[in-house]
Amino acid sequence: MTQTDFTHDPAAQSWVKSAQGHSDFPVQNLPLGTFAPPGGKPCGGVAIGDEILDVAGVAEMLDGEARTIALLAGQPTLNDLLGAGNPALRALRHGLFRLLTDASREAAVRPALHPATDCTLHLPARIGDYTDFYSGIHHAVNVGSLFRPDNPLLPNYKYVPIGYHGRASSIRLSGVDVVRPNGQTKAPDADAPAFGPSKRLDYELEMAIWVGRGNALGCPVPIGEAADHIAGISILNDWSARDVQAWEYQPLGPFLAKNFHSTISPWIVTMDALAPYRTAQPARPEGDPAPLPYLLDAADQRHGALGLTMEVLIRTARMRAAGEAPHRLSQGPMTAMYWTIAQLLTHHASNGCNLAPGDLLGTGTLSGPTDSEKGSLLELSAGGKHPIALPNGETRTFLEDGDEIIIRAHADAPGFARIGFGDCRAMICPAP
Ligand code: MN
Repeated sequence: MTQTDFTHDPAAQSWVKSAQGHSDFPVQNLPLGTFAPPGGKPCGGVAIGDEILDVAGVAEMLDGEARTIALLAGQPTLNDLLGAGNPALRALRHGLFRLLTDASREAAVRPALHPATDCTLHLPARIGDYTDFYSGIHHAVNVGSLFRPDNPLLPNYKYVPIGYHGRASSIRLSGVDVVRPNGQTKAPDADAPAFGPSKRLDYELEMAIWVGRGNALGCPVPIGEAADHIAGISILNDWSARDVQAWEYQPLGPFLAKNFHSTISPWIVTMDALAPYRTAQPARPEGDPAPLPYLLDAADQRHGALGLTMEVLIRTARMRAAGEAPHRLSQGPMTAMYWTIAQLLTHHASNGCNLAPGDLLGTGTLSGPTDSEKGSLLELSAGGKHPIALPNGETRTFLEDGDEIIIRAHADAPGFARIGFGDCRAMICPAP
């Protein structure tokens, strides 16, 4: 990873320095979410080790702006908190940090801390709109190669951040079972399609970008301002029925193959928490076009990528029954994105489309260049042609009922604490 440079962001710099001075105190991450304590209503919280802090519950112990912002966390969804923008989230973060590192306030804070195992987690925000991109260049090449070996990328790929509008209503938190979808599929040698359970159910390893401050209809977000509109990120599993997709996707793109369920991790890791792990956007290969000017910003190219490592694990019903640990299917870097998260946001709003606090943008499946970095079964099994061998002797081309998929991610940088994102997991149940 490139040496982290966050001199561009003095506020983040001061935060990181102060956090480093208390490296024995596990608060560098302070991810935002919503939770209900036993017998209580959903409200905003931050995860601290094995506990969740009720943010509004400590508001009156905070100073100035942090107090006002903390009160927004008392609502059952965090849309207003996210919409307050990154300077507000930063003020809250610094206020909480000062409070949590003040030993004289420990007894006063204690009643607002709840053991995480006693709490119910909820979606952090009401997701108004969900858009999924296709920014993983290796995924795009791998999948394109299955259909067009000589010409895997379509001519627009290196100019346009490709995306489609997904479905927000079927996004669920980690831990909610996924019901195998029924759909129309047509075998290559069949005369007509049939309706029934998908036989090629897959996962997609993605990260999700939470929109913070929105933009008004008709008002694009310049690339130099895009970072101000991104509140943070979570893990996303964009479950996909490949056989349904193959039959339905032309001419208008993904539809029922994608919108039956998407799973996200419970916590929003804010951009301030991620400051130490920001890194340079990888240089484009020789001969690739430069991004068009509306997508090109020098600062974004210098530190707009994120040095995260993501991994996917599987636990089949047989592994679970035998008490065996999940098996890692792949591990890869988030820097496999052809576009930065700022470029995705700016492109989305470039036609005047209004993004709102709590909207969710998927990166698209993130695969690295090698076999051990492939972020979907479609790629790992080469379109179902090469079954994957699991340690207990089972094989998989696509997911079977009872399979559980677990996605994790973490950020590392020399001299900084390692931070995680929580699990993004779900199990496949039989079709109705
Ligand atoms: Mn996807």
